[in-house]
Order: sequence, then C-alpha cells, then structure tokens
Amino acid sequence: MATPAQRPPSVDKLARSLQESGLPHPLLVDVAREAIAAGDHESALDRAMALQRTLLQPVVNATGVLLHTNLGRAPWPSSDDGQYRNLELDLATGDRGSRQAHAPKLLARACGAESAIVVNNCAAAVMLVLAALAKNRSVAVSRGELVEIGGGFRVPEVMEQSGAKLLEVGTTNRTRATDFANAVANPDNDVALVMQVHQSNYKIVGFTEAPHISELADLGVPLVADIGSGLLDEACPWLADGPPTWLANEPAARQTLEAGASLVIFSGDKLLGGPQAGVIAGDAELVAACARHPLARALRPGGLVLASLQRLALSYLERDGQAIPFWRMATIPVEQLRARAEAVVATAGNGEVVDTMSVPGGGTLPDVEFPSAGLALPGNHREALRQLDPPVVARVADDVTTLDFRTIDPAHDGHVAQAIGGLTR
Ligand SMILES: *Cc1c(COP(=O)(O)O)cnc(C)c1O
Repeated sequence: MATPAQRPPSVDKLARSLQESGLPHPLLVDVAREAIAAGDHESALDRAMALQRTLLQPVVNATGVLLHTNLGRAPWPSSDDGQYRNLELDLATGDRGSRQAHAPKLLARACGAESAIVVNNCAAAVMLVLAALAKNRSVAVSRGELVEIGGGFRVPEVMEQSGAKLLEVGTTNRTRATDFANAVANPDNDVALVMQVHQSNYKIVGFTEAPHISELADLGVPLVADIGSGLLDEACPWLADGPPTWLANEPAARQTLEAGASLVIFSGDKLLGGPQAGVIAGDAELVAACARHPLARALRPGGLVLASLQRLALSYLERDGQAIPFWRMATIPVEQLRARAEAVVATAGNGEVVDTMSVPGGGTLPDVEFPSAGLALPGNHREALRQLDPPVVARVADDVTTLDFRTIDPAHDGHVAQAIGGLTR
C-alpha cells in the first residue's frame, strides 16, 4: 500500500505548486498532468521550466556573432506599452494616412532616396519589385549572382514565383556591362529590369569580372540593386570614427543610388541593425508602382515593426550610432571588452580571459572577423548556460566554452559573472 508521501498529488495541487515558473495556470495543469501520467510528479517543475524555455524571450548572446540568425539577427528595440498609434491617420488633415509615411520616409531621407516603402523582409521586397515591375517580362541577372541566401531565398525561384522571367547573362565568374547591354538591346528578350544581387554570403575569387553598378545605369531600363545587408551610407556618418575597415567593398544604399540604381532593396535586420523588414528605396514612381501592387497589401509590415524601424531611422538621422545596438557592439574597442572580461573573471573566481574573434554573421561579410575579448572555461557548459534566466548562448569548440563580450550587453555582465561562478569547474 502506498504511503501518503508516495501518493501522487492532485493535478490542481501540483499545478499550483509550479507557480514560480511564471506560466499561466492552464499550461501548468498540462505539465502537472504529463508528470503524473509519467508516474514522476517530482519532475513537474523541471517540465514547467522546460516549457517556459520554449517561449520567445530575451537571451544573452555570448557567441560574438553580431547578427545571429538563431537570435533574430540584429537586436531590435521593441515597445510593449500598449498604445494606439497614428499608423494610418494623417494627424495634419485627419484623413486616412499611409503606414508608409513614417519609418520608410525617414529611411529614404537617411540614404538619399526619393521615396521608400517597407515590407516584411528583403525576400518579399525582391518579390514585390519583380511582380510590380517585370511581370511576364524578363529580368537580366548575371550568372554569378543567382544566389541562395539561406532559409530558401534563391534568386531563380523568387523570380519564378513573382511571374518575371529570368534572363541569365554572362558567366559564373565573369560578366561584363556589354553582356547586359546586348541582352537589353535584343527586342525579343523584352527586358523590363536589370538586376544586380549582392553576393552577400559568398565570394567568387580568381579570374573574375563584374560590372560596376554605374556601368549598368544607362541601358534604358530600370536598374534594381538587391544590396542585401542594408548599409545606408559607405561614409557611416553615424559613427564618430567613420567607417570601420572591415566594411570595405560592402555596397551601401546611398552610393548605389548615386551610381545610378533606380531602386535599392535591403533587409532591416542585417547591417541596418533593426527588426525583420525589407526596404525598397529609390525612384518615387517605381516605389509607388510597388506600393500599388496587390501583393503590397499581403507583404506589408505591422505597426510594431514600423515603430521599431522609425526609432532606428531617427538614430541614423541623428548620427547616433551608439543608439543602434549593432553599431555600438561592432565598434566597441577591444580593450573595453577585455577589461569587462577581466572584471567578470575576478568576480566569478572562474574562467580565463582570452582573445576572441567576432564576426558580423547573418549571411553578411563572409570573410570578415574582428578582434574581440572574452572568457574561456574548460569543458562544454553550453547546456547549463542555456538553462539560466536569461539564457546565455555561448560557443564551444575543442571542449572549451567561450563567451565573447562584444555581443553581451554590459548590463548583463553581473548575470554572466554569477553564471560562471556557479558552474562546476
Ligand atoms: C539576406 C539577403 C536577402 C534575404 O533577406 P531577408 O531579409 O532575409 O529576406 C536577399 N538578398 C540578399 C542579397 C541578401 O543578402
């Protein structure tokens, strides 16, 4: 006969005992039921904590990968103040306004474009441009730029979905302006657009040639540049010390438009440093044609994204790169990172300060890394660190756990010190 201690508690009582997990009662009831059904009611709290960790939540990025695909690429500001906003109300006239009148307008100003609209991501932006400007017509693209970006964005497939026809020009390693000119000049091709796609996540080296964007500007059809990463201006006026050397050769929206592109397309959450979004910027009539297309309604962003992007765009216009987490982290001097790592190691009484390398990540700048500092611990502590609140995501290689301080918000240094101090050595 079971003693009272062995008798399983009621589902309700067990669920109530799990309140420290912070989960709502119905979820705790599910967890309690599962634990009892498994004959292991003692596991209920662990199960509740495991369920809690399936929720979307802030994490400490100790990987040194600035744009971490699994962590939402760039860290973005969010507002959960639950207010109405003038999303589609013109406050001057009281008439129906446009959700494209706020953040997109500011982004256009920040990169010197006549006009801009925002959609859900860069893939959607490419799709919309092609559908609106090249349906049933040809788009000339270099064979060296028929890229796959990851997560299934493949230029030829996006092209097909949009209803535009891909017209490949040149070769994998060498494409010249004359290849494009010949393609456009042939009336049988019915070329609607010339498109350049940035080789964001790979490099073709050796015997290569690609036309500069300016050589494609006067072919008589609109020139669209998918620059991918969303660097607004090569000169980085938002950084006190100007552009970092590792940005060299990364195409920027302002200079691409100045060189003659009719439209630039880019992501919101790569080097732009904001939430997931796609921006179409440039010639006002072409942007308006995209905005009018029925797909624009399906691809439009919500107020949360637009509010976050507006805050970002204002920081760019204020030339305040320190207010943009991506740029702040990317430009912290390594000595500061080393000093923080030393302080954390001293507090924790654990770990060793090490030199590390940070990378931009997120499918940008494939061969770039820059010096950073962090701490190393023997052994693989990745799982233990992920169980913390907030979870800490670290790197492990050769049975050594490394925390890179470049991507850790200084506000989390105390949490990291406590976490490291609590790990078994
Ligand atoms: C990243 C990238 C995309 C896809 O961007 P998403 O915002 O992830 O949709 C498209 N084109 C280029 C050149 C890119 O670098």
